[in-house]
Amino acid sequence: MGKRINQLGKLLGERVDILVMPRMGASLKFKVRVLTLVGIAVAWVAITLAGLLFFASGYNSQVIKAENELMHVKMRLIGDELERGRKYLELTRTTDMQMRQMLGMPGGQFVNMPKDWQTTKEEEDRRAQALFQKDLKDLTTDEFEAYIDTLEDNAKARLASFQEIAWFFANRREGLNSTPSIRPSSAPISSGFGYRLDPFGRRTTKRHNGVDFAGKPDSPIVVTADGVVRHAGWVPSYGQAILVDHGFGYSTLYAHTTAIRVKAGDVVKRGDKIATMGSSGRSTGTHLHYEVWKDGQAVNPRNYFK
Ligand SMILES: [Zn+2]
Repeated sequence: MGKRINQLGKLLGERVDILVMPRMGASLKFKVRVLTLVGIAVAWVAITLAGLLFFASGYNSQVIKAENELMHVKMRLIGDELERGRKYLELTRTTDMQMRQMLGMPGGQFVNMPKDWQTTKEEEDRRAQALFQKDLKDLTTDEFEAYIDTLEDNAKARLASFQEIAWFFANRREGLNSTPSIRPSSAPISSGFGYRLDPFGRRTTKRHNGVDFAGKPDSPIVVTADGVVRHAGWVPSYGQAILVDHGFGYSTLYAHTTAIRVKAGDVVKRGDKIATMGSSGRSTGTHLHYEVWKDGQAVNPRNYFK
């Protein structure tokens, strides 16, 4: 080992001749130590590397900057498009109201929607409005998602409303098919309409707004009159629920279902299968909770089928 280092030291200390030979004139001869040559080589490599690194980092940040700017422009364009779409949606709301007025239809929100649904709807509207008031670029990712979702919901609601108008127009002179008149399920009734009795035979304060049918899981549920599906999906405690607007002041509600076959805006005919019996939401066993609403009031469904 010591011998090797000795040899290396000797080599580095040695002088070599460097000959520079121009095309014309006399050649130059340098005597340079090997150590100096090695030093120059190392310095050269270091400078080159440093230069490369410097250039590369500068280049990267340039690219990122350009990409950022491009993203910004794209986001702004998307934002503008969304905003335009939302304004058109607002316009259709006005048209919707005008058409309803012309036809003598109930305007705005669904008249027969149960009270607690109405408030959630209003709450949602308020949230949406607050969101729409903000500048798009100030929205967080979550808010942006909520914004898109709300836009979509609004568009769906609008479409459902227009379909309802079309349906109302087509059925204006009838009305017969709009009155609930069949059983929504062939299963036996397990609980009736009105105040339930507690174990002491006293009336409890909570009124049962509908009639319960207890059947086997997956037995069919049919709609009891012609109409337009106003809501199909989850509602707290009602579970998977369907609300159908029949016009002429009537609507029906089907709760705790599974396998919903319809969506908001669908036109349904009396006897159409809309879902199957389940136990979704606040429910202790497989049953259908069925409500009939007339002019904003829950009425006894027992009067609407034989
Ligand atoms: Zn019930």
